[in-house]
Amino acid sequence: MKTLLELRNQGPHHSHSSMSCFLNCGLKYYLKYVQKLQAEMQSANLLTGSVYHKTMDFFIGQLMDGRKVSEQELKEYFEREWSNNIAISKNLSFENEDEQNSMREKTMEMLKTYIEQFDYGQKIISHSESFIVKVEGVELPLVGEFDMVVLDKNKKTVIVDFKTASRSWPAGKENSEPQATLYLYAFKQMYGRSADFRFDVVTKGKQSKILVLPTSRKSEDFSRMARIYQQVERGIQAGVFIPNDTSFFCSNCEYAKACNEWGRCQQVAS
Ligand code: SF4
Repeated sequence: MKTLLELRNQGPHHSHSSMSCFLNCGLKYYLKYVQKLQAEMQSANLLTGSVYHKTMDFFIGQLMDGRKVSEQELKEYFEREWSNNIAISKNLSFENEDEQNSMREKTMEMLKTYIEQFDYGQKIISHSESFIVKVEGVELPLVGEFDMVVLDKNKKTVIVDFKTASRSWPAGKENSEPQATLYLYAFKQMYGRSADFRFDVVTKGKQSKILVLPTSRKSEDFSRMARIYQQVERGIQAGVFIPNDTSFFCSNCEYAKACNEWGRCQQVAS
């Protein structure tokens, strides 16, 4: 099986992230995926999410090999990953070293919370399983990766996605999350059968807590997804990259400077 990186390097493709980026802000998509501009700063949230995922993947991989890692081992793995990521990151959006340290401690606490409440009754089938699929009417393939696939206590196959969040998700968010739609579609394409989906969300609040949010999709959800992706691809091919100045992501946008300069040199009638 090819890794996600190998699939990405194979050639032009879309992903859940790139599609969501376009839908959220066309200009950000243009700067990131068309111009391939280097990010002006690296989001601290992205860094913590990435180290959290990497450590979870280590934990799950060891479980699949029949080994339950101790809290100390997990901490050592996490600390190594954290330091490596800090060392190769540029312009991280931490305000100062105190903020960085408290984020490090918080992320480790979130991992601990998740591991303590992990459901050892579920059977792990795979972890970090990459995919590449075609969606009807969309020219480029879609690539992605299942964090974990399990057989639950009812012997139902469930794709599990690990998430970190600053607060609890609004009620029902899991039922409209496009990532679950794409991943369930991809699973069906790969294995010719349906699965369910689950977001395992750990919150960053004062007291970390786990939200286990199961969801599923119907065939009409896949049709709608294909329709949206077709429209997005048409927009990309036509070069329609509109900034979304009221986007939720503006306050933390890694292309804010380039965005601010965009369009300001253009002469318009006054
Ligand atoms: S700052 Fe806002 S409008 Fe500008 S590129 Fe980023 S997300 Fe888009």
